[in-house]
Amino acid sequence: MQRFDCIIVGAGFAGLSAAQHLTSQGYKVRVLEARDRVGGRTEMAHFAGRHIDAGGMWLGPTQIHLKTLAARLGAKTYPTPLEGQSQGQAGGYAFRAKGEAFEDAIGLISKVQLGLLLVKLNGYLKTLDPAAPWAGDQAAHLDAYSVASWSDRHIKNKRVRAILNLIVRSVFCAEPEELSFLFFLFYVKAAGGLEVLIEAKPGGAQSLLFHDTLAQMAQQLSAEMPGVVALNQAVKAIDQDDTGVQVLTQDANYHADQVIVAIPPGLVQQLSFSPPLPMARQELLKRQIMGACIKVWVAYERPFWRDAGWNGILFYEDSAFAPVFDATPPGSERGFLAGFFDARCAAQWSEKTQDARKQEVLKTLQRGFGDQALTPIEYFERDWTREAWSQGCYGAFMPPGALSLYGHSVRQAHGRIHWAGTETAIAWSGYVDGAISSGLRAATAVEMDLAGL
Ligand SMILES: Cc1cc2nc3c(=O)[nH]c(=O)nc-3n(C[C@H](O)[C@H](O)[C@H](O)COP(=O)(O)OP(=O)(O)OC[C@H]3O[C@@H](n4cnc5c(N)ncnc54)[C@H](O)[C@@H]3O)c2cc1C
Repeated sequence: MQRFDCIIVGAGFAGLSAAQHLTSQGYKVRVLEARDRVGGRTEMAHFAGRHIDAGGMWLGPTQIHLKTLAARLGAKTYPTPLEGQSQGQAGGYAFRAKGEAFEDAIGLISKVQLGLLLVKLNGYLKTLDPAAPWAGDQAAHLDAYSVASWSDRHIKNKRVRAILNLIVRSVFCAEPEELSFLFFLFYVKAAGGLEVLIEAKPGGAQSLLFHDTLAQMAQQLSAEMPGVVALNQAVKAIDQDDTGVQVLTQDANYHADQVIVAIPPGLVQQLSFSPPLPMARQELLKRQIMGACIKVWVAYERPFWRDAGWNGILFYEDSAFAPVFDATPPGSERGFLAGFFDARCAAQWSEKTQDARKQEVLKTLQRGFGDQALTPIEYFERDWTREAWSQGCYGAFMPPGALSLYGHSVRQAHGRIHWAGTETAIAWSGYVDGAISSGLRAATAVEMDLAGL
């Protein structure tokens, strides 16, 4: 039986980046992937004559790991189209904004209140360490709040509260009532601030799109390591002792010195470990909940919404389908809109038929852009809540109480087992960038163990 230096579980960007680093150092590595493809929560699909991202798709300029990888692999980006007016609705108030300047469109009082909210949040963020958010003086106190209970107490302005709710739904794919306020702060800090996290204008996390998809870079990474990735190999159990690790799939047994587990927390929980995981790690895994999201693409003969001065952005609090963005590549005759059913709306609409969802999507687009929205040339959707090997997206979030009590176990190695995956990242947790850095961190830890350091 072959023995590997390291077995990596999961061929998402975390697992592939770890493998790429270790193989480049000459180590013998095998990546075991449950699906029949690589890329995990990124996936390329064919739609209306082009490639699209069914999962993760944006790059922000401060996401240096993804940016560096894209540069190395020659993946070209274009700015998210923003020229023209966005439309929004929050707290019973409808507004239009130039580009993304929502703060200028929500009324003076709300603008001032929103500014005060940002000052208050920045106050908390100043002292929060994204590498140990559980360690701050106020951690337990802040973790006792959900975002909803914190904002009920601290935000009096209805419009501003509604905007924060919209942000939580579209960033975490979770309801404000479900999400720990401390986890919210950690996530914002890990991204470098709230503005960076939510914006599509230059500097923001939604500012750049890939001409030929983000997902294809996972295929490129895998192709650089021929014979390393084994598909259709769902790992069931990991057993270790003083001599090494055994990794069991349905039809094979793999032996290695070290293991990197680079899969979403809910799926880690389904693995059997011998010896068992420490209690804190098990309790954390039980409390890491995947967000709920259905991603939708709609293609039109042309980007007709631009004729009326719209930039394609819809940010409606009272619609199940929101937010929506223009994702039309430069020079394309056809127009492309990408949008989401998030959080409770994803859970509710996941139970309905595809046709019912399509009608809801078109109704929302008609509300924003008029009757032409009712005649798309193609419709595409991917319900990530039904993906057995992801169990939701974009990432896992934590309810109140989890991060302060058990967060410290998130990256602690269990003997020969090291943890990767975007949920273990210190910067850009929940994003592809965080997945890549987590893989590189775990690979470095494996290297040190293999070298006996
Ligand atoms: C709709 C959507 C939109 C998103 N938008 C963005 C965006 O615009 N920008 C951004 O940066 N990020 C975005 N994300 C998040 C981003 O895609 C993820 O953070 C990132 O891909 C996670 O990578 P990972 O390697 O940590 O995990 P994954 O991609 O989940 O990879 C884990 C791999 O492990 C495999 N696996 C699971 N269980 C087992 C098992 N038992 N045995 C073997 N293999 C197993 C899975 O099949 C998968 O391939 C989005 C995600 C989705 C779904």
